[in-house]
Amino acid sequence: MTEIEIARTIGRQSAPNADALKELRGGLRGTLLLQDEDGYDAARKVYNAMIDHRPAAIVRCFGADDVICAVNFARNNDLLVSVRGGGHNVSGNAVCDGGLMIDLSPMKSVQVNPQGKTVRAEPGVIWGEFDRETQAFGLATTGGLVSTTGIAGLTLGGGLGWLMGSHGLASDNLISVDVVTADGRLLTASKSRNEDLFWGLRGGGGNFGIATSFEFQLHPVGPMLGGMLIYRLDKAVETIKFYDDFTRTSPDELGTFLAFVTSPEGERVLVIFVCYNGAVEAGERILKPLRQFGPPHADMIGPMPYVQVQRMMDDGFPAGRYNYWKSNFLKGLDEEGIRIIVDHVAKVPSPHSAVAIEQFSGAVKRIGINETAFNHRNARYNLLIVGMWSDPAVKAANVKWVRDLWDAMEPYSSGGVYVNYLGQEADEGAERIKSAYGPEKYARLVALKGKYDPANLFRLNQNIRPMPG
Ligand SMILES: Cc1cc2nc3c(=O)[nH]c(=O)nc-3n(C[C@H](O)[C@H](O)[C@H](O)COP(=O)(O)OP(=O)(O)OC[C@H]3O[C@@H](n4cnc5c(N)ncnc54)[C@H](O)[C@@H]3O)c2cc1C
Repeated sequence: MTEIEIARTIGRQSAPNADALKELRGGLRGTLLLQDEDGYDAARKVYNAMIDHRPAAIVRCFGADDVICAVNFARNNDLLVSVRGGGHNVSGNAVCDGGLMIDLSPMKSVQVNPQGKTVRAEPGVIWGEFDRETQAFGLATTGGLVSTTGIAGLTLGGGLGWLMGSHGLASDNLISVDVVTADGRLLTASKSRNEDLFWGLRGGGGNFGIATSFEFQLHPVGPMLGGMLIYRLDKAVETIKFYDDFTRTSPDELGTFLAFVTSPEGERVLVIFVCYNGAVEAGERILKPLRQFGPPHADMIGPMPYVQVQRMMDDGFPAGRYNYWKSNFLKGLDEEGIRIIVDHVAKVPSPHSAVAIEQFSGAVKRIGINETAFNHRNARYNLLIVGMWSDPAVKAANVKWVRDLWDAMEPYSSGGVYVNYLGQEADEGAERIKSAYGPEKYARLVALKGKYDPANLFRLNQNIRPMPG
């Protein structure tokens, strides 16, 4: 396709001419990729193989100035915009069909200040890269449980991880964020500058602008006790009941969650994943009752560096499989609820699928509910149903399995949802986004959207729509 043909199809309402595209290309430090150009297909691929969108053009940004150029170009030419950080969001909102994809993945700098225990990282960084650099100084902050997930999307939506009992969510550790807003300004948001924006960025996702730099607080994080306990499915009910009691009084340093998975041998099993963020000897003492209960079919807990804890689930989440996820926070989990999950897991059509029950405790709950846009600090458990398969022909059975379990667990739902686990709006429904924030926070976010993005330029996300003005 020529630049002129691209120019005709690129626009949502109007199209830039070939001269405008040429000017954009010439003004970038990074690269502009049009359809059929080398690198275009690789750049539009994301984690979830279900996503096969074809942006009319992709700007691969090398710095904040490229982001400003791309935002101004999209706004001036009335283009649909998508923003890609680590490319892990299952909804696939990072890649638009037609329009301009703003790809931040080349922006990979991570600069640690070991004296101040802070780090500045760009939005193309993934957690594995971030953790390596910070751990070189024996430091870390709360980050995602799979090392290939991007720091950008995860942090802007909240950011659950092993260290949240000790240090809160990833977004609770933000000191400042540099953001390109819809009008092309580069603003710094922190507790003392553009405070309203800073509030919204900590949970409000990509609605208010494009983050070009994140400054985080770091904490000393040393070698720790990590790994998993594996139980046969017929022991799931008694094990989860014990786990529920045990984790109500366990210290902040202990991060755990439950997952139903298929073992390499093909058996459906329950796994308790653990990470004790403290001295190994203390972790051995604290974990003893949990490790003795049952006993587990296999105990694979041992001392390991934090970067290894952060990678222990990577093999289960390779890029390029088909993913369909549904989730909800739970108001509680009783024996009957556990049995519903167990019965459903026994019928799972794909060995790659999983059910995770994530547990909130410690620092994440102590931070004031109104301090940031993230709204579910008081939750005890989050239920995440992960449908994952390799053959596109078996989509229907796998989607059905996820939806059936989600429906069956409806009586246990608190009605809330984690914004980063939401799928496409067409599937979830436009109202679901409100469940991520509750009515009061949602109203505050709508007002903030009206201030920073009144024309809804950044709409391909879990969208908070501005009031029609
Ligand atoms: C395998 C896997 C494991 C996961 N584990 C966790 C976990 O442990 N904890 C957790 O909290 N979540 C987890 N998630 C969910 C994750 O937080 C979201 O998918 C998140 O959006 C991923 O961020 P990303 O930058 O990789 O995604 P992308 O797909 O690149 O971005 C997602 C959206 O975020 C916005 N965005 C991205 N970058 C920017 C930016 N710089 N400025 C403005 N907006 C931006 C855009 O709206 C974009 O559509 C996991 C997801 C997967 C697939």
